[in-house]
Amino acid sequence: MTLLVGKKVASEIENEIREKIELLDTDRRPCLVVFLVGNHAPSLAYVSRKKIACESVGMISEVQTLPESISKEDLISKIREKSQDPKVDGILVQAPLPPHLSFASIVEAIDPKKDVDGFHPLNMGKLMLGLEGGFIPCTPLGIQVLLSRSNIEIEGKHVVIIGRSNIVGRPLAALLSQNRKGCNATVTIAHSKTERLIELTRSADIIVAACGKPRFVTAEMVQEGSVVIDVGISRIGNRLVGDVDFDSVQSKCKAITPVPNGVGPMTVACLLHNTLLSFERSL
Ligand code: NAD
Repeated sequence: MTLLVGKKVASEIENEIREKIELLDTDRRPCLVVFLVGNHAPSLAYVSRKKIACESVGMISEVQTLPESISKEDLISKIREKSQDPKVDGILVQAPLPPHLSFASIVEAIDPKKDVDGFHPLNMGKLMLGLEGGFIPCTPLGIQVLLSRSNIEIEGKHVVIIGRSNIVGRPLAALLSQNRKGCNATVTIAHSKTERLIELTRSADIIVAACGKPRFVTAEMVQEGSVVIDVGISRIGNRLVGDVDFDSVQSKCKAITPVPNGVGPMTVACLLHNTLLSFERSL
C-alpha cells in the first residue's frame, strides 16, 4: 500500500513556485487577497494557513477581515475595489459566509481573471467545456495533481466521487472526465440520494470521498487494489478525521491519502499555483 502524502507533494510544488518567484524579472510580487467575513473558527485557521503559505513562497498576502453583519452591497463593493487593483492577482472569499450572504452571488463580484478559487460561473463554465484560460478549483486540481505526480493512472479508470458539491464533487468530475492527458476517466458522481452506493464504490478503480461524513467509507465498500482519496475533514474531539475509515480500508488499497496531510495541503499548493498563473497572465 502506498500512502499518498499530499503534504510532501505540496511542498515540492511550493518549492517550484518559490524558485519561479525568486527568478522573476520584476519587482512586483504575486498578491492574493482573502476576504474573511465573521469569525468562524475553522475559517480563521484555513485563512491563516493560506497566508503563511503565500508568504513562504514570496507572495504578498492580504486578509480583509470584515464583520459578520456586513451587507451584501458593502462586501461586493470591497471585492470590486480589489478586483480593479492592478497589484492584486488573486481574490478569494472564504466560505462559509453568514446566512444573509449568498456565496454564489458574492463570488460573481470577483473579476474572473483573478478568481483563483475558480468558483466564478465563467471559470466553472470553462472547466465544464474544457476551455483553457480559466482557473480550476483548488481541491479538484490538487487531487488530479496528487494522482498524476504519484504515477497513478487516471485514464480509462472508473472514478466514483462521493459528494456533488460545487467546490469538490462537480468540478472534480468535470476535470477528471476531460479529454486530455492526465484525465480521461469514466466518472460517477454519487450523492445523498444515490441508491446502492456500495455497488458503485466496489466497481471503482479510484474512490474520492467528499461527503463530510466521518469514516463513511468502510472496508466492505472498497474493492482490493483500489485507490482511495479522502477529502473529508471533520473534527472529533481533538482529532481531524476524514470520510474514510482509514484503519479498516488501508489494507485493501493500492494507495490511499491520510487525513490530515493528504488532500488539504494540495488544496493550498494549488491556490498558490493559481495565484502565480494569474500573475503570469497579467505580465
Ligand atoms: P458538502 O456538505 O457541500 O457536500 C457533501 C456532499 O456529500 C453532498 O453533495 C451530499 O449529497 C453528499 N452526501 C452526503 N451524504 C451522503 C451519503 N450518505 N452518500 C452519498 N453522498 C452523500 O461538502 P463539501 O463542501 O464538498 O465538503 C465535503 C468534505 O470535504 C467536508 O468534510 C469538508 O470539510 C471537506 N473539504 C476538504 C477540503 C480539503 O482541502 N481537504 C476542501 C473542501 C472540502
